[in-house]
Amino acid sequence: MTRPIKAQIDLAALKSNYQLAKTLSAGPALAVIKANAYGHGAVRCAQALSDTADGFAVASLEEARELRQAGIQSPILLLEGFFEATELSEIAALDCWLVIHASWQVTALLQYLASNDDGAKTWHVWLKVDTGMHRLGLTAEDAVHAYAQLKTSLHIQDIKLMTHFANADDVSDAKTLTQMQVLQQLVDQVGFSGEISVANSAAILGWQDLKITPVMPRWARPGLMLYGANPFYGTTAQTAGEALQAVMTLSSQVISVQTIQAGEAIGYGGLFQAQETMRIGVVACGYADGYPRTVVHAPAMVAGQMTRVIGRVSMDMLFINLENLPDVTVGADVELWGKHVSVDAVAVSANTLAYELLCNVKRTPFIYR
Ligand SMILES: *Cc1c(COP(=O)(O)O)cnc(C)c1O
Repeated sequence: MTRPIKAQIDLAALKSNYQLAKTLSAGPALAVIKANAYGHGAVRCAQALSDTADGFAVASLEEARELRQAGIQSPILLLEGFFEATELSEIAALDCWLVIHASWQVTALLQYLASNDDGAKTWHVWLKVDTGMHRLGLTAEDAVHAYAQLKTSLHIQDIKLMTHFANADDVSDAKTLTQMQVLQQLVDQVGFSGEISVANSAAILGWQDLKITPVMPRWARPGLMLYGANPFYGTTAQTAGEALQAVMTLSSQVISVQTIQAGEAIGYGGLFQAQETMRIGVVACGYADGYPRTVVHAPAMVAGQMTRVIGRVSMDMLFINLENLPDVTVGADVELWGKHVSVDAVAVSANTLAYELLCNVKRTPFIYR
């Protein structure tokens, strides 16, 4: 028997989640497939979505290149734009859409366009405004200037305005509204009437009535929700989130069953100690596969029944509680997360988010269906 761990990827669920994102946001949506599609496999996910998605978003030219090499012809947005001006010729060759988030990028792009008359090639620029997150983006003031400069170029066919929310995962936090107001002021100031893009998964699911005038097409940028996880920390039953379907199922098997006596401890550091005689299962999955080492009593499912991870997770193995599961033996299937065990719940028990867990999965075979 080979090591039984595997990550099964349900591409039909991915498509269904994308449709939900589009329905909720009532407009075009870029499927965010950066970081290898949050650990799910960027090429396979892009192929599955290629006939329905309005476009894709990635973090780097390398990620875009991989998609183009695999034959993906849809628009691809580079979410961080270019890191150096030398990337621009390949960005043109791969026909990527470009985020511009800093003044130096405006200058570099215009310089490139002035000296490389690549004829018919037209550019799509997403001008990113920092409305309060203070990560990437021009200040509203600098954006006014950048917008005017970019508009002068005949090679730039289209300029959209975009921003990113810092706290959209808290639906009671007014910061999202404040960020929208900053964007609205900019729209008014430059008399903007093109397309805008604001919503990540949390905004799509939790902030459906954000308004900007004049009403203009809005591109959503769903990431996490495409994979069936919930961006609202600590809640797995968020209303709209209930319609999301888990895409990745990480599963393995019990490879050893032990009976331990009261007072005996298991694993490294003896983190878990038996109160009375009990059975425990050893599962072939560890932190080298991406399972978080920091979980405390994470849920897991064994042979169709819910149980908990106990003791310390080691590199290749972890322990589950078989106390009330006398029928479970070596070879029993274990779902670490997926259709029955919410990846969000496992993330909470590791004091983190599903984002981090999904991105980290490695070493295991991936099976697509
Ligand atoms: C990653 C990213 C997204 C997607 O965010 P989710 O929370 O995963 O939906 C959207 N926009 C930008 C700019 C991003 O970097």
